[in-house]
Amino acid sequence: MKDLIIQKYGGSSVSDIEKIKNVAKKIIQTKQEGKDVIVVVSAMGDTTDSLTEMAYAISERPKEREMDILLSTGEQISIALLAIAIHSMGYDVISLTGPQCGIVTSDRYNKARIDEIHTKRIRKELEQGKIVIVAGFQGINHKMDITTLGRGGSDTTAVALAAALKANLCQIYTDVDGIYTSDPRIVPNAKLIPSISYDEVLELASLGAKILHPRSIELADKYKVPLEVRSSFHHHKGTTIKEDAKMEKVFIRGISLDENIGKISVLEVPDKPGIAFQLFSSLASLDIHVDMIVQNVNRNGVNDISFTVSMDELQEAIEVAQKFAFKVNANKVIYDKAVAKLSVVGTGVLDNAEIASNFFESLFELGINIQMISTSEIKISCIIDKEKGKEALKYMYQKFNI
Ligand code: ASP
Ligand code: MG
Repeated sequence: MKDLIIQKYGGSSVSDIEKIKNVAKKIIQTKQEGKDVIVVVSAMGDTTDSLTEMAYAISERPKEREMDILLSTGEQISIALLAIAIHSMGYDVISLTGPQCGIVTSDRYNKARIDEIHTKRIRKELEQGKIVIVAGFQGINHKMDITTLGRGGSDTTAVALAAALKANLCQIYTDVDGIYTSDPRIVPNAKLIPSISYDEVLELASLGAKILHPRSIELADKYKVPLEVRSSFHHHKGTTIKEDAKMEKVFIRGISLDENIGKISVLEVPDKPGIAFQLFSSLASLDIHVDMIVQNVNRNGVNDISFTVSMDELQEAIEVAQKFAFKVNANKVIYDKAVAKLSVVGTGVLDNAEIASNFFESLFELGINIQMISTSEIKISCIIDKEKGKEALKYMYQKFNI
């Protein structure tokens, strides 16, 4: 059997006709190397944003189902144009939408999860020697409605296909050279990481590196799909993500800043068992991902509970918190959009007391107040004032001398 490679090209890699032709050539090269190729593409450039703006220009609350029908058209344009380009270069190719290639999702619109992939069609096309181009970020649910996987979801489509078809490699082509030790726009001496573990990259991505859809990394980890992140504009090797990258025992892998979060606090919540469960199970039932949670010390039978969510889920989370506050007779809900999360990530982070001490010392030296702290085996994170975020990131990067 031939090697099977899944390649994913993001929106910036197919943002105009010249770039689409360029991507077509790269795909053909892989095919010429004797490999089977499946390509997943995103919508061209800012298409998804423009479509979203149009909907919100009509209605403050467009129906979620209709949003998915609308947004899925972006990817449909790119797969057709890319297939036309490859065909014009003399190669056999077919484009397929998510539903056509059997991607079945949960019922939830706007951020559906992939439940299963019926691979019969796609296998048949591969067997006939075709290059297969798949629309990213979309599938079909049990009601036969089109669903989308959440912003940035094309990465997840690519990894899910790689897992379902047991591909040898999944390459994510994007407009950066790979994964860096920090955000190169803020920290100019940030370095490219040649190889990294799933766990570490998951922390870096969900902490703001913004390169891969976090769900795609979870899936890659679960099914041990070897991933490569590389630039679609030149031939650099990029970053390999795999299980055993951990063996290198690098203490600090990188430092990241996530400015795309908001903090919600429910004030004066009665202090009794089951209260936190009520709040967080309501959030979970809407698939709202809660990151850090802090409950302060009890005073006069009440607590304050604070948590963070990503900016695009803030509004929904506030509404849930307000309903909860009303139900349990808490005082009120407040929120803050001017926060950021600063994190130091690496396999040695929690084992090494000096790292934690340097982390907190840096913030002290900058006079920055810490609002929340959380740790895991491979990271230390804290919530600080957004205004101070970039300064803190730069300072800490130099301090740790990565
Ligand atoms: N086009 C979608 C977005 O812009 C999906 C993706 O790019 O992965 O979020
Ligand atoms: Mg994208």
